[in-house]
Amino acid sequence: MQPLIRVKNVRKIYRMGDERVVALDNISLEIYKGEIVCFLGTSGSGKSTFLNMVAGLEKPTRGEIYIGNIPIHKLNEEQVTLFRQKNIGFIFQAYHLMPMLTAIENVSMPLIFAGMEKKKRIKLAKNALAAVGLQGYENRKPTQMSGGQQQRVGIARALVGIPKIIFADEPTGNLDTHTTKEVMELIVSEVRKHNQTLILVTHDRSIANYADKVVTIQDGNVLKIEEKQKEGDKR
Ligand code: ADP
Ligand code: MG
Repeated sequence: MQPLIRVKNVRKIYRMGDERVVALDNISLEIYKGEIVCFLGTSGSGKSTFLNMVAGLEKPTRGEIYIGNIPIHKLNEEQVTLFRQKNIGFIFQAYHLMPMLTAIENVSMPLIFAGMEKKKRIKLAKNALAAVGLQGYENRKPTQMSGGQQQRVGIARALVGIPKIIFADEPTGNLDTHTTKEVMELIVSEVRKHNQTLILVTHDRSIANYADKVVTIQDGNVLKIEEKQKEGDKR
């Protein structure tokens, strides 16, 4: 089987005045369709930088990133934006919901960008909210919901268009232990249902238990890759 994502010798250096920060030193790895991969590392190890490179939000200083046959590192801003709209969903630590919009309006956003007509949009957004257990919360604004509920809206928004790949950057970073477990179980079950690929980054060891593959990042390098052996795994 061909990998879905191929990262080859990716390096990222930030320059601030005279200072050089090596955020990613030299990262190479492959991710397969349907995998749940957790990037684990302490704060400042380069996790978010890595995620942003693969999502095409930033360009590597050196190296190559392919999703399918698409060279992400070579796309211009317009191409990469289109690619993201079609293929990628994001879940953020701080939810990043639009404060003036209701839950259903927030979840509809990616469908508006995809040019879907209103009736269909509302139907899909409503279903997505129900799938994350927020039936009846359609018209709430973010300030009228708990952190866990806001993250559920964030998850519904990331999943509503059924993108091939979901990126989650510290998705439970603002949640308590109990809600973390609920939110992780929700993300994983939704992702599995549609055979989507999930890339999540965290500093929280307990999150790694949800992953098929755990990549430990240290000082911008891969320290180790652990693969969970599943029963009946044919790979
Ligand atoms: P993590 O997500 O693992 O906490 P980051 O990827 O955010 O780590 O950061 C890795 C390193 O790169 C850190 O030293 C951070 O300070 C630095 N860094 C990240 N983004 C920038 C930026 N835009 N400009 C300068 N330095 C940055
Ligand atoms: Mg980070």
